Amino acid sequence: MKVPFLDLGAQYAPIRAEVDQALNAVFSSTAFAGGPFVASFEEAFADYVNCEHAIGVGSGTEALWFALLALEVGPGDEVITVPNSFFATAEAISICGARPVFVDVSPDTLTMNPKALEAAITRKTRAIIPVHLFGQMADMDPILAIAERHDIPIIEDAAQAHGALYRGKPAGSLGIAGCFSFYPGKNLGAPGEAGAVTTHDANLALQIRILRDHGQAVKHDHQMVGWNGRMDGIHGAVLNTKLPYLENWNEARRSHAELYRKRLAPLPGLQVPIEQVGRRHVFHIYALRVQGRDELMTELAQRGVQCAIHYPVPIHKQAAYQDGNAPALHLPVAEASAPKLLSLPLYPELKPIQINYVCDQIERWVERRTVKSRIGRPSSRLNSRPTRREATHG
Ligand SMILES: *Cc1c(COP(=O)(O)O)cnc(C)c1O
Repeated sequence: MKVPFLDLGAQYAPIRAEVDQALNAVFSSTAFAGGPFVASFEEAFADYVNCEHAIGVGSGTEALWFALLALEVGPGDEVITVPNSFFATAEAISICGARPVFVDVSPDTLTMNPKALEAAITRKTRAIIPVHLFGQMADMDPILAIAERHDIPIIEDAAQAHGALYRGKPAGSLGIAGCFSFYPGKNLGAPGEAGAVTTHDANLALQIRILRDHGQAVKHDHQMVGWNGRMDGIHGAVLNTKLPYLENWNEARRSHAELYRKRLAPLPGLQVPIEQVGRRHVFHIYALRVQGRDELMTELAQRGVQCAIHYPVPIHKQAAYQDGNAPALHLPVAEASAPKLLSLPLYPELKPIQINYVCDQIERWVERRTVKSRIGRPSSRLNSRPTRREATHG
Protein backbone atom coordinates (compact mmCIF):
# COMPACT_ATOMS: atom_id res chain seq x y z
CA MET A 1 0.00 0.00 0.00
CA LYS A 2 1.22 3.51 -0.80
CA VAL A 3 0.84 6.10 1.93
CA PRO A 4 2.22 9.48 0.89
CA PHE A 5 3.33 11.93 3.55
CA LEU A 6 0.99 14.55 2.13
CA ASP A 7 -1.60 14.57 -0.67
CA LEU A 8 -2.56 18.07 -1.75
CA GLY A 9 -4.43 16.67 -4.75
CA ALA A 10 -6.82 14.86 -2.43
CA GLN A 11 -7.58 18.18 -0.74
CA TYR A 12 -8.14 20.00 -4.02
CA ALA A 13 -10.41 17.41 -5.67
CA PRO A 14 -13.59 17.88 -3.59
CA ILE A 15 -13.37 21.70 -3.60
CA ARG A 16 -12.12 22.06 -7.16
CA ALA A 17 -15.19 23.88 -8.50
CA GLU A 18 -15.08 26.45 -5.70
CA VAL A 19 -11.35 27.02 -5.91
CA ASP A 20 -11.46 27.36 -9.69
CA GLN A 21 -14.31 29.84 -9.38
CA ALA A 22 -12.25 31.89 -6.91
CA LEU A 23 -9.31 31.89 -9.32
CA ASN A 24 -11.58 32.93 -12.19
CA ALA A 25 -12.90 35.81 -10.10
CA VAL A 26 -9.35 37.07 -9.55
CA PHE A 27 -8.49 36.83 -13.23
CA SER A 28 -11.76 38.47 -14.32
CA SER A 29 -11.19 41.42 -12.00
CA THR A 30 -7.38 41.40 -12.48
CA ALA A 31 -6.97 42.07 -8.74
CA PHE A 32 -3.62 40.27 -8.67
CA ALA A 33 -1.50 42.08 -6.08
CA GLY A 34 -3.18 42.89 -2.79
CA GLY A 35 -6.69 44.18 -3.46
CA PRO A 36 -10.21 43.16 -2.45
CA PHE A 37 -9.67 39.37 -2.27
CA VAL A 38 -6.80 39.83 0.14
CA ALA A 39 -8.78 42.36 2.18
CA SER A 40 -11.76 40.04 2.58
CA PHE A 41 -9.53 37.12 3.57
CA GLU A 42 -7.78 39.36 6.12
CA GLU A 43 -11.13 40.16 7.66
CA ALA A 44 -12.27 36.53 7.76
CA PHE A 45 -8.95 35.28 9.15
CA ALA A 46 -8.79 37.99 11.84
CA ASP A 47 -12.25 36.85 12.87
CA TYR A 48 -11.22 33.18 12.92
CA VAL A 49 -8.23 33.97 15.15
CA ASN A 50 -10.29 36.27 17.34
CA CYS A 51 -8.10 39.29 16.60
CA GLU A 52 -8.91 42.82 15.48
CA HIS A 53 -6.46 42.71 12.60
CA ALA A 54 -4.86 40.33 10.13
CA ILE A 55 -2.34 41.56 7.57
CA GLY A 56 -1.68 39.36 4.55
CA VAL A 57 1.99 39.13 3.54
CA GLY A 58 4.16 37.11 1.18
CA SER A 59 5.06 34.20 3.51
CA GLY A 60 5.26 33.08 7.10
CA THR A 61 8.92 34.10 7.11
CA GLU A 62 7.91 37.62 6.08
CA ALA A 63 5.20 37.66 8.75
CA LEU A 64 7.86 37.04 11.41
CA TRP A 65 10.25 39.55 9.88
CA PHE A 66 7.63 42.34 9.64
CA ALA A 67 6.37 41.68 13.18
CA LEU A 68 9.93 42.08 14.49
CA LEU A 69 10.57 45.19 12.37
CA ALA A 70 7.31 46.78 13.52
CA LEU A 71 8.47 46.25 17.11
CA GLU A 72 11.71 48.02 16.12
CA VAL A 73 13.91 45.01 16.79
CA GLY A 74 17.34 45.60 15.29
CA PRO A 75 21.12 45.38 15.72
CA GLY A 76 22.28 44.93 19.31
CA ASP A 77 18.97 43.35 20.34
CA GLU A 78 18.33 39.81 21.46
CA VAL A 79 15.23 37.76 20.69
CA ILE A 80 14.60 34.55 22.60
CA THR A 81 13.29 31.56 20.70
CA VAL A 82 13.65 27.76 20.45
CA PRO A 83 16.06 25.73 18.28
CA ASN A 84 13.65 22.96 17.23
CA SER A 85 11.68 24.86 14.65
CA PHE A 86 11.75 25.53 10.96
CA PHE A 87 14.83 27.64 10.19
CA ALA A 88 12.73 30.74 9.38
CA THR A 89 11.96 31.44 13.05
CA ALA A 90 15.61 32.26 13.76
CA GLU A 91 16.30 33.59 10.30
CA ALA A 92 13.71 36.36 10.69
CA ILE A 93 15.47 37.50 13.88
CA SER A 94 18.88 37.52 12.22
CA ILE A 95 17.72 39.33 9.09
CA CYS A 96 16.63 42.21 11.37
CA GLY A 97 20.22 42.40 12.63
CA ALA A 98 19.26 41.04 16.04
CA ARG A 99 20.68 37.92 17.70
CA PRO A 100 18.52 34.82 18.25
CA VAL A 101 18.99 33.45 21.76
CA PHE A 102 18.03 29.78 21.76
CA VAL A 103 16.51 28.22 24.87
CA ASP A 104 15.64 24.60 25.50
CA VAL A 105 12.18 23.05 25.30
CA SER A 106 10.08 20.96 27.69
CA PRO A 107 10.51 17.21 27.22
CA ASP A 108 6.79 16.42 27.09
CA THR A 109 5.73 18.93 24.41
CA LEU A 110 9.01 20.07 22.84
CA THR A 111 7.77 23.67 23.13
CA MET A 112 9.54 26.54 24.91
CA ASN A 113 10.47 25.72 28.50
CA PRO A 114 9.33 28.72 30.61
CA LYS A 115 12.15 28.24 33.15
CA ALA A 116 14.75 28.29 30.38
CA LEU A 117 13.08 31.40 28.96
CA GLU A 118 13.27 33.25 32.27
CA ALA A 119 16.94 32.34 32.71
CA ALA A 120 17.81 33.69 29.25
CA ILE A 121 16.32 37.17 29.63
CA THR A 122 18.87 40.00 29.63
CA ARG A 123 18.69 43.79 29.33
CA LYS A 124 19.02 43.32 25.58
CA THR A 125 15.98 41.04 25.19
CA ARG A 126 13.51 42.81 22.91
CA ALA A 127 11.06 40.04 22.02
CA ILE A 128 10.21 36.39 22.69
CA ILE A 129 9.10 34.00 19.95
CA PRO A 130 7.56 30.76 21.24
CA VAL A 131 6.78 28.24 18.48
CA HIS A 132 3.51 26.32 18.52
CA LEU A 133 5.29 23.20 17.34
CA PHE A 134 3.52 20.59 15.19
CA GLY A 135 0.11 22.16 15.91
CA GLN A 136 0.17 22.34 19.70
CA MET A 137 0.54 25.69 21.43
CA ALA A 138 3.44 26.40 23.76
CA ASP A 139 2.67 26.70 27.49
CA MET A 140 1.49 30.30 27.14
CA ASP A 141 0.35 31.15 30.71
CA PRO A 142 3.81 31.01 32.31
CA ILE A 143 5.43 32.43 29.17
CA LEU A 144 3.04 35.40 29.15
CA ALA A 145 3.53 35.94 32.89
CA ILE A 146 7.32 36.06 32.51
CA ALA A 147 7.07 38.35 29.49
CA GLU A 148 4.74 40.69 31.32
CA ARG A 149 6.99 40.83 34.38
CA HIS A 150 9.90 41.88 32.18
CA ASP A 151 7.77 44.00 29.84
CA ILE A 152 8.87 42.11 26.72
CA PRO A 153 6.49 41.52 23.79
CA ILE A 154 5.61 38.03 22.60
CA ILE A 155 5.41 37.12 18.93
CA GLU A 156 3.76 33.75 18.43
CA ASP A 157 5.13 31.59 15.65
CA ALA A 158 1.77 30.06 14.74
CA ALA A 159 2.85 28.84 11.30
CA GLN A 160 1.91 25.26 12.25
CA ALA A 161 -1.06 26.05 14.46
CA HIS A 162 -4.04 27.46 12.52
CA GLY A 163 -6.98 26.70 14.80
CA ALA A 164 -4.99 25.48 17.81
CA LEU A 165 -6.29 26.64 21.20
CA TYR A 166 -4.82 27.33 24.63
CA ARG A 167 -7.49 27.51 27.35
CA GLY A 168 -9.98 28.31 24.60
CA LYS A 169 -7.90 31.09 23.05
CA PRO A 170 -6.75 30.73 19.43
CA ALA A 171 -3.11 30.56 18.43
CA GLY A 172 -2.08 33.99 17.22
CA SER A 173 -4.34 35.86 19.67
CA LEU A 174 -2.23 35.70 22.84
CA GLY A 175 0.89 37.67 22.00
CA ILE A 176 1.29 41.17 20.58
CA ALA A 177 1.48 39.45 17.19
CA GLY A 178 0.77 36.02 15.72
CA CYS A 179 2.63 34.90 12.60
CA PHE A 180 1.03 32.44 10.21
CA SER A 181 2.26 30.67 7.11
CA PHE A 182 -0.04 29.54 4.31
CA TYR A 183 2.63 27.48 2.60
CA PRO A 184 0.73 24.82 0.58
CA GLY A 185 1.31 22.00 3.08
CA LYS A 186 0.27 23.91 6.21
CA ASN A 187 -3.14 23.26 7.82
CA LEU A 188 -4.46 26.16 5.75
CA GLY A 189 -2.48 26.34 2.53
CA ALA A 190 -2.39 28.80 -0.38
CA PRO A 191 -1.58 27.89 -3.99
CA GLY A 192 1.95 29.17 -3.43
CA GLU A 193 3.73 31.28 -0.80
CA ALA A 194 1.68 33.40 1.59
CA GLY A 195 1.49 34.41 5.25
CA ALA A 196 -0.22 36.74 7.70
CA VAL A 197 0.33 38.62 10.93
CA THR A 198 -2.54 38.80 13.41
CA THR A 199 -2.76 41.38 16.20
CA HIS A 200 -5.11 43.25 18.54
CA ASP A 201 -2.88 46.32 18.28
CA ALA A 202 -4.09 48.88 15.71
CA ASN A 203 -0.77 50.70 15.62
CA LEU A 204 1.24 47.53 15.06
CA ALA A 205 -1.21 46.50 12.31
CA LEU A 206 -0.71 49.86 10.60
CA GLN A 207 3.08 49.61 10.86
CA ILE A 208 3.01 46.18 9.22
CA ARG A 209 0.66 47.41 6.46
CA ILE A 210 3.14 50.21 5.76
CA LEU A 211 6.16 47.87 5.91
CA ARG A 212 4.69 45.37 3.43
CA ASP A 213 3.97 48.18 0.96
CA HIS A 214 7.37 49.86 0.50
CA GLY A 215 7.01 52.02 3.60
CA GLN A 216 4.03 53.93 2.25
CA ALA A 217 0.64 54.41 3.93
CA VAL A 218 -0.48 56.55 1.01
CA LYS A 219 0.70 55.95 -2.54
CA HIS A 220 4.01 57.75 -3.36
CA ASP A 221 4.44 58.93 0.23
CA HIS A 222 7.26 56.72 1.58
CA GLN A 223 7.64 57.43 5.27
CA MET A 224 10.22 54.72 5.75
CA VAL A 225 12.09 51.97 3.97
CA GLY A 226 9.85 48.91 3.80
CA TRP A 227 9.65 46.03 1.38
CA ASN A 228 7.38 44.47 -1.24
CA GLY A 229 5.60 42.03 1.06
CA ARG A 230 1.99 42.06 -0.10
CA MET A 231 -0.13 38.95 -0.41
CA ASP A 232 -1.23 38.04 -3.95
CA GLY A 233 -4.89 38.20 -4.98
CA ILE A 234 -5.08 34.51 -5.88
CA HIS A 235 -3.88 33.59 -2.41
CA GLY A 236 -6.47 35.82 -0.74
CA ALA A 237 -9.23 34.37 -2.93
CA VAL A 238 -8.26 30.71 -2.51
CA LEU A 239 -7.57 31.05 1.23
CA ASN A 240 -10.95 32.67 1.67
CA THR A 241 -12.56 29.74 -0.13
CA LYS A 242 -10.69 27.21 2.01
CA LEU A 243 -11.02 28.88 5.43
CA PRO A 244 -14.58 27.58 6.05
CA TYR A 245 -13.24 24.01 5.69
CA LEU A 246 -10.39 24.45 8.14
CA GLU A 247 -12.33 23.33 11.22
CA ASN A 248 -13.40 20.08 9.55
CA TRP A 249 -9.90 19.46 8.28
CA ASN A 250 -8.46 20.04 11.75
CA GLU A 251 -11.06 17.67 13.23
CA ALA A 252 -10.08 15.01 10.67
CA ARG A 253 -6.41 15.48 11.61
CA ARG A 254 -7.32 15.09 15.27
CA SER A 255 -9.26 11.90 14.73
CA HIS A 256 -6.43 10.42 12.63
CA ALA A 257 -3.99 11.33 15.40
CA GLU A 258 -6.23 9.58 17.91
CA LEU A 259 -6.20 6.43 15.77
CA TYR A 260 -2.40 6.57 15.61
CA ARG A 261 -2.25 7.10 19.38
CA LYS A 262 -4.49 4.13 20.15
CA ARG A 263 -2.41 1.81 18.02
CA LEU A 264 1.07 3.13 18.79
CA ALA A 265 1.01 4.27 22.43
CA PRO A 266 1.08 0.66 23.77
CA LEU A 267 4.21 -0.26 21.78
CA PRO A 268 7.44 -0.34 23.78
CA GLY A 269 10.16 2.18 22.91
CA LEU A 270 7.85 4.61 21.13
CA GLN A 271 6.76 8.00 22.42
CA VAL A 272 3.60 9.39 20.81
CA PRO A 273 2.60 13.08 20.93
CA ILE A 274 0.25 13.89 23.78
CA GLU A 275 -2.34 16.65 23.74
CA GLN A 276 -1.90 18.67 26.93
CA VAL A 277 -4.85 19.43 29.20
CA GLY A 278 -6.47 22.74 28.20
CA ARG A 279 -4.96 22.75 24.73
CA ARG A 280 -6.36 21.84 21.33
CA HIS A 281 -3.70 20.21 19.19
CA VAL A 282 -4.34 20.55 15.44
CA PHE A 283 -1.67 18.01 14.41
CA HIS A 284 0.03 19.83 11.56
CA ILE A 285 2.68 17.12 12.10
CA TYR A 286 2.35 13.77 13.86
CA ALA A 287 5.86 13.20 15.20
CA LEU A 288 6.83 10.08 17.11
CA ARG A 289 9.98 9.83 19.14
CA VAL A 290 11.72 6.52 18.58
CA GLN A 291 15.20 5.10 19.07
CA GLY A 292 16.41 3.75 15.72
CA ARG A 293 14.42 6.35 13.79
CA ASP A 294 16.48 6.14 10.58
CA GLU A 295 16.12 2.36 10.42
CA LEU A 296 12.35 2.57 10.93
CA MET A 297 12.05 5.33 8.35
CA THR A 298 13.91 3.23 5.75
CA GLU A 299 11.78 0.20 6.50
CA LEU A 300 8.56 2.20 6.19
CA ALA A 301 9.76 3.68 2.90
CA GLN A 302 10.36 0.14 1.59
CA ARG A 303 6.77 -0.67 2.47
CA GLY A 304 5.38 2.37 0.68
CA VAL A 305 5.00 4.67 3.69
CA GLN A 306 6.55 8.08 3.18
CA CYS A 307 7.69 9.81 6.38
CA ALA A 308 9.59 13.03 7.08
CA ILE A 309 11.84 14.47 9.78
CA HIS A 310 11.07 17.71 11.61
CA TYR A 311 13.87 18.66 12.19
CA PRO A 312 17.04 16.62 11.79
CA VAL A 313 19.43 19.36 13.00
CA PRO A 314 18.48 21.91 15.68
CA ILE A 315 18.93 25.46 14.44
CA HIS A 316 21.75 26.29 16.89
CA LYS A 317 23.74 23.41 15.33
CA GLN A 318 23.26 24.65 11.76
CA ALA A 319 26.34 26.00 9.95
CA ALA A 320 24.71 29.43 9.72
CA TYR A 321 24.74 29.75 13.52
CA GLN A 322 28.24 28.49 14.29
CA ASP A 323 30.33 31.15 15.97
CA GLY A 324 33.89 30.02 16.58
CA ASN A 325 34.35 32.55 19.39
CA ALA A 326 31.33 31.65 21.48
CA PRO A 327 31.30 28.58 23.72
CA ALA A 328 29.24 25.74 22.19
CA LEU A 329 25.61 25.98 23.20
CA HIS A 330 24.16 22.82 24.72
CA LEU A 331 20.38 22.38 24.75
CA PRO A 332 19.91 18.78 25.89
CA VAL A 333 16.17 18.26 25.31
CA ALA A 334 16.14 19.67 21.79
CA GLU A 335 19.38 17.87 20.92
CA ALA A 336 18.25 14.51 22.31
CA SER A 337 14.91 14.64 20.48
CA ALA A 338 16.30 15.52 17.03
CA PRO A 339 17.65 12.03 16.17
CA LYS A 340 14.46 10.36 17.45
CA LEU A 341 11.73 12.38 15.75
CA LEU A 342 9.83 10.74 12.91
CA SER A 343 6.84 12.44 11.28
CA LEU A 344 4.20 10.00 10.04
CA PRO A 345 1.80 10.70 7.17
CA LEU A 346 -1.03 12.93 8.40
CA TYR A 347 -3.46 14.97 6.37
CA PRO A 348 -7.24 15.30 6.52
CA GLU A 349 -7.97 13.01 3.56
CA LEU A 350 -5.85 10.15 4.92
CA LYS A 351 -7.96 6.98 5.31
CA PRO A 352 -8.18 4.85 8.47
CA ILE A 353 -7.11 1.83 6.37
CA GLN A 354 -3.90 3.69 5.52
CA ILE A 355 -3.29 4.65 9.15
CA ASN A 356 -3.80 1.04 10.21
CA TYR A 357 -1.39 -0.09 7.51
CA VAL A 358 1.27 2.36 8.77
CA CYS A 359 0.71 1.13 12.32
CA ASP A 360 0.95 -2.53 11.23
CA GLN A 361 4.35 -1.86 9.70
CA ILE A 362 5.58 -0.03 12.81
CA GLU A 363 4.28 -2.81 15.05
CA ARG A 364 6.14 -5.45 13.01
CA TRP A 365 9.35 -3.43 13.20
CA VAL A 366 9.04 -2.98 16.96
CA GLU A 367 8.33 -6.70 17.41
CA ARG A 368 11.34 -7.77 15.38
CA ARG A 369 13.57 -5.32 17.20
CA THR A 370 12.41 -6.61 20.57
CA VAL A 371 13.15 -10.19 19.56
CA LYS A 372 16.58 -9.20 18.21
CA SER A 373 17.56 -7.38 21.38
CA ARG A 374 16.53 -10.42 23.46
CA ILE A 375 18.63 -12.78 21.42
CA GLY A 376 21.52 -10.36 21.60
CA ARG A 377 21.49 -10.39 25.39
CA PRO A 378 23.63 -13.05 27.14
CA SER A 379 20.76 -13.96 29.44
CA SER A 380 18.27 -14.50 26.62
CA ARG A 381 16.54 -17.82 26.66
CA LEU A 382 17.90 -19.10 23.37
CA ASN A 383 16.57 -22.59 23.96
CA SER A 384 13.04 -21.54 24.76
CA ARG A 385 12.32 -18.90 22.12
CA PRO A 386 10.10 -16.16 23.46
CA THR A 387 6.52 -16.24 22.24
CA ARG A 388 5.30 -13.35 20.14
CA ARG A 389 3.47 -11.96 23.11
CA GLU A 390 6.44 -12.07 25.41
CA ALA A 391 8.66 -10.63 22.73
CA THR A 392 6.41 -7.64 22.32
CA HIS A 393 5.67 -6.85 25.89
CA GLY A 394 8.58 -8.38 27.79
C1 LIG B 1 6.42 27.09 7.75
C2 LIG B 1 7.02 27.75 8.93
C3 LIG B 1 7.56 29.05 8.90
C4 LIG B 1 7.80 29.81 7.63
O1 LIG B 1 6.69 29.99 6.84
P1 LIG B 1 6.88 30.19 5.24
O2 LIG B 1 5.51 30.54 4.78
O3 LIG B 1 7.37 28.91 4.69
O4 LIG B 1 7.84 31.31 5.04
C5 LIG B 1 7.97 29.62 10.09
N1 LIG B 1 7.90 28.95 11.24
C6 LIG B 1 7.43 27.69 11.32
C7 LIG B 1 7.36 27.02 12.65
C8 LIG B 1 6.99 27.03 10.17
O5 LIG B 1 6.53 25.79 10.24
